[in-house]
Amino acid sequence: MKYTLAIHGGAGTILKEDMTPALEKAYTQGLQQALQKGYSVLEKGGTSMDAVIAATVELENNILFNAGRGSVFTKTGLHEMDAAVMNGIDMAAGAVCGVHNVRNPVELATAVMRNSEHVLLSGEGADVFARTQKITIEPDDYFYSQFRFDQWQAMRDSDDVALDHSTQQIIDKKFGTVGAVACDMHGNIAAATSTGGMTNKNYGRVGDSPLIGCGTYANNKTCAISCTGHGELFIKAVAAYDVSCLMEYAGMDLQDAMNKVVNEKLVAINGEGGMIGVDAKGNYALLFNCEGMYRGVKTSDGIEEVKIYR
Ligand code: ASP
Repeated sequence: MKYTLAIHGGAGTILKEDMTPALEKAYTQGLQQALQKGYSVLEKGGTSMDAVIAATVELENNILFNAGRGSVFTKTGLHEMDAAVMNGIDMAAGAVCGVHNVRNPVELATAVMRNSEHVLLSGEGADVFARTQKITIEPDDYFYSQFRFDQWQAMRDSDDVALDHSTQQIIDKKFGTVGAVACDMHGNIAAATSTGGMTNKNYGRVGDSPLIGCGTYANNKTCAISCTGHGELFIKAVAAYDVSCLMEYAGMDLQDAMNKVVNEKLVAINGEGGMIGVDAKGNYALLFNCEGMYRGVKTSDGIEEVKIYR
């Protein structure tokens, strides 16, 4: 049976003219590595859940992406991270929001799913839970990067927030966040999303990524989805679940359902961003309504691509 892994590393106004060849190469390599990590799980007969975790951990460990290590600074100069996972076979889900010092928030979200009675743990409670699990905690320094710091310095005295991913001047139109969706050889699908949120975001702000149905969703009957973009609008659109509903109730296929949500519903409310999706037959789609999205896909029937721009 066909198996597929798709990943993203954020979407927004990502323009070739803003990118140096070295940076472009680094992003491409980062995506390729994550794709390989996740795909090798599928190749060995592993589950879609383990594949999306493996790919997401790799992206969280890469300082270029706004998740885990590369998370943006909040208004108070901290890092508050959100993550979620969902399993299509049984609709098991786990999520965390506003967590600190956790090396891989996607692993903590997985621990919530596997080892607690809950779906979503927030802030201090999630941090305390992390210490009861085999979760690696890192000092503040681990999350420091000069370009994120400079990005925040440029904004900290204002009330602006940026959904941002970049070192560039145009910082109001770029999104971070990482995610993965997979269909394994047993026909089960899963999704994972992880983010540092928005530069200069308010203490306690939570985006769409850890909210099941908004930024992350999986159901074997329909699709597995991971979103990136302007979280507030993706929450209002209940974006990931809307794709599932269009498939379940209106009989659309994955591509058409995602197209409707990304290019019609979200556009109508200025919800800039994109999403990746798979169904239980291994079909995939990678769609966005802005200039670019860091993205990649690899399938058992030989497709392998990593792309940044439109
Ligand atoms: N959706 C994320 C959030 O609003 C940001 C992003 O995708 O870059 O937190």
